[in-house]
Amino acid sequence: MADIVFRNVTKRYGGTLAVDDASFAVNDNEFFCFFGPPLSGKSTILRLVLGLETPDMGEILIGGKPVNTVSPAERNVAMVFQNLALFPHMSARDNIRFPLVERRVAEAEIEKRVADVAAKLHIGHILHKPPAQLSGGERQRVAIARALVRDPVAYLMDDPISALDARLREETRVELKRIQRELGKTLIYVTHDQEEAMSVADRMAILESGKIRQIGAPAEIYDRPASTYVARLLGSPMMNILKSVHGAEGVEAAEGTIRIADTGAPADAVEIGLRPEDLKVRAWSEGGAGRPARVFEVEPLGGYTVVTLAAGQARLRALLRGQPDIRPDAMVAISCEPGRVHYFGQSGGALER
Ligand code: ADP
Ligand code: MG
Repeated sequence: MADIVFRNVTKRYGGTLAVDDASFAVNDNEFFCFFGPPLSGKSTILRLVLGLETPDMGEILIGGKPVNTVSPAERNVAMVFQNLALFPHMSARDNIRFPLVERRVAEAEIEKRVADVAAKLHIGHILHKPPAQLSGGERQRVAIARALVRDPVAYLMDDPISALDARLREETRVELKRIQRELGKTLIYVTHDQEEAMSVADRMAILESGKIRQIGAPAEIYDRPASTYVARLLGSPMMNILKSVHGAEGVEAAEGTIRIADTGAPADAVEIGLRPEDLKVRAWSEGGAGRPARVFEVEPLGGYTVVTLAAGQARLRALLRGQPDIRPDAMVAISCEPGRVHYFGQSGGALER
């Protein structure tokens, strides 16, 4: 079993709290993602798991055993370096063999382990090729094979594809997800890209200044963000978050442009959140329900269109399917299902309806 547990772990660098009282449990065989802005403590968490840093407080357990005083080698957790870090002058096979040769493992054992890991990663047929003759996905598999040939209990990746261009990133993350599913080994993955985190992770932890703000499956966190901080981090365009008041006809925001007749609205809500895809926008001339707003700008993106609305002093963004006939400065009617509204209290925490 290679579950990895932090219990109230704190790590300081001088006056900086790099990791602040973090508790989480990564399950065996899970693709677990840490997501947060730069300097939020993601890399420090990986170094603590590897054993390159020791916690100032708290306990780390791997496979149920406390490892605070266990050396990195004995923890047997592998870091996968970017696929660019493959030795260019060596074949894929020699790249994969390298960690074992370095450790003076017997030749017969090396051959057996390389064959095993190559079979698991479906790269047996490309072992003779140098990295330059491999596709991006194949290089990724070779880099992972080089980390896994030591048979670690878990493998870690620190923002592994941030250096790639957007198109290659999309391809690579699908590849990574597929590899992890096939291998069924615990993977802890760090990224500062919300879309990447959402797309690859079984579960993810959201960090802010060394603190874990929420843990859950991506869809769960997206649908029920625990705070405005988390709500703003996930989703593109970002969630519309507006100051709200309780009026006679329900919850109002953006100077009455948003009015939600929601009997379930929590009394202590001071802000509401509306996902762009939950805003309904229709031409004003069509009539029907909805409050009036003026179209500020329209961004047609092919499969969908982002419409920015001027609602009092506020700007609201709506995400519409296809290419609706909506022009700048037109009047539209906007509405939102009460059940899709997020409510937040004074300190930014989410409130239950
Ligand atoms: P991330 O990977 O999310 O960008 P890090 O874990 O690298 O964040 O850093 C978390 C915080 O700890 C930052 O404020 C950073 O400046 C600080 N920090 C990280 N490593 C060191 C170090 N070796 N010495 C001093 N401060 C550090
Ligand atoms: Mg980092």
